[in-house]
Amino acid sequence: MKKEYDAIIIGGGSMGLTLGAYLQRAGMETAIFERRWEEGSAICTSECTAPGFLHNLHANFCEFMDWHPPYHDFKLEELGVRMIYPEAQAAIGFSDGRPPIVLYSVEKPENFKKTHESIAQYSKHDADTYVGLRKQILELQDVIAVNYYNPPQDTTGGRGDFFPMLGIPSDLITASCKAVIDYLYESSEFKTMMYRILQEFGPALEMEGLGAMIMGNFWISLNWRMMVGGTHTLAHGLEMAGVREGMDFYENCEVVKVLLDNGRASGIQLKDGTQIKARKLVASNADIKATMLDMVGEENLSETWVRRVKNYRIGYSNVLASTALALHEAPDYKSAKYNPDMNKAFYTIVGFDTPEEILQYIRDGVSGRMPGIAGAGTWVNSLWDPNYAPKGKHSLTGWFFAPKASDLTIEEWDEVKATYNDKFIQRFEKWAPNMTRDNVIADYFYTPLDQELEMRLMEGDFQNGSYMPNQTGHNRPFPEASQYRTEIEGLYLCGPYMHPGGGVSSGVGYNCFKVVAHDFGLEKFWENHPRGF
Ligand SMILES: Cc1cc2nc3c(=O)[nH]c(=O)nc-3n(C[C@H](O)[C@H](O)[C@H](O)COP(=O)(O)OP(=O)(O)OC[C@H]3O[C@@H](n4cnc5c(N)ncnc54)[C@H](O)[C@@H]3O)c2cc1C
Repeated sequence: MKKEYDAIIIGGGSMGLTLGAYLQRAGMETAIFERRWEEGSAICTSECTAPGFLHNLHANFCEFMDWHPPYHDFKLEELGVRMIYPEAQAAIGFSDGRPPIVLYSVEKPENFKKTHESIAQYSKHDADTYVGLRKQILELQDVIAVNYYNPPQDTTGGRGDFFPMLGIPSDLITASCKAVIDYLYESSEFKTMMYRILQEFGPALEMEGLGAMIMGNFWISLNWRMMVGGTHTLAHGLEMAGVREGMDFYENCEVVKVLLDNGRASGIQLKDGTQIKARKLVASNADIKATMLDMVGEENLSETWVRRVKNYRIGYSNVLASTALALHEAPDYKSAKYNPDMNKAFYTIVGFDTPEEILQYIRDGVSGRMPGIAGAGTWVNSLWDPNYAPKGKHSLTGWFFAPKASDLTIEEWDEVKATYNDKFIQRFEKWAPNMTRDNVIADYFYTPLDQELEMRLMEGDFQNGSYMPNQTGHNRPFPEASQYRTEIEGLYLCGPYMHPGGGVSSGVGYNCFKVVAHDFGLEKFWENHPRGF
């Protein structure tokens, strides 16, 4: 291990890996120190149910890949990163076997017709509205990306600007996302679908002040790609990209201290006492409380920063628990008799018939208990990629909205782990009669507490910090820190608690690189880049 670098990054999650690759390419000798035994953190793939069955327990939907800067700049395809873009992107079926709603990929223009027909079974108004909006977003999508892949300029991270362009009343920017959905759509079936998609991929549905956050969903929905061989291949590609540039990556290296020299970040100390010097900067991908309060230390911070960091809110809007099932057969939904694509949609909502059920489900989670209705968003990646299950078998993975890790005791989480999958399977059977216990070879349940302990996703919050009106855009994580710098000179932040938040986007890592490039006079290659960011 070298004892001195220009730049040191604490944590090798996707954002740390992104920052590392760009810094090394820009000429800074860079090393990443990761506490786990592998790169990528939540971009992981696990064989947690039975041998040969793969499950992406965390990120599964790779929706940013059209823009994802390192994917293009470092040619990750050369490093083995491959994607599949399933045609039927999202579907909801119903327990009484009513026709499903299936939404198709935006890749082919003719798919809009299929999406329209599917929604119009329940409401022509909703079909016109949704398809109209999605087409407008296609025109605007590269402009939306500019807001995403730049440091934040306003409290909505630029998202609010698009409401007038889309014909959505501006007052809804500061309403809740539920209010926006209720304004746009009328049918119970389509609202059920929209509520569920929104909650799972975005902010808390009913939280006032976050209406503009729905833009993220408009932008990325139906753009979902699947990584061949597991989402972890993306993390691996990102690490290889940095290493190919000359970056060093150290595993099993927990950082316990940021070293200071005259108030400036000058290096790190590992758990075993080893110290490594940083000639220019230290950046942290680890959670903000651990970075500032433990590694830097309260005694080295101003009273304002201590108060800001301590009051930063983590959980509850982005807390998910995952289920993983090794199956003999893929689910065969009752609703599939009207449209067989119901059985091969990439993201499938199961267990909800009405918008009220989704609301109750979310209110349970927010109130600190596992939802009484065990419904989920699910995917069966083995339908497209044989790497995910032994021949003829299938691997299903899914997410439940869940309370924060600290809402339940360890014993209560153990109880959930032991019982919730059964509850889910019993409900599943009402939507897909072949989903009996006999169809399940093995199962696994992954809690928010597991996520905190294994990945340091605190409270199981996949953004490592709630989306709240005072924690978005240039208020994220708090105004003094929103430009990726800290009050400690030479110390930067690059975790999902920064704008634009988490996701397999590389956004935070890329934006942090831009700020560092500015501070250290590195080439600003993006200023002349045809993609515009
Ligand atoms: C259940 C779930 C489902 C998700 N689904 C999707 C999805 O479908 N699509 C999508 O786009 N996104 C999804 N996400 C979100 C996405 O996975 C995360 O937002 C993203 O991976 C966060 O990456 P990161 O690099 O910012 O942070 P992290 O992944 O949190 O990386 C931080 C790294 O720092 C390391 N670290 C912490 N402390 C130390 C220390 N002291 N010393 C050294 N290293 C340290 C950690 O081990 C970790 O590797 C999901 C997340 C979850 C939890």
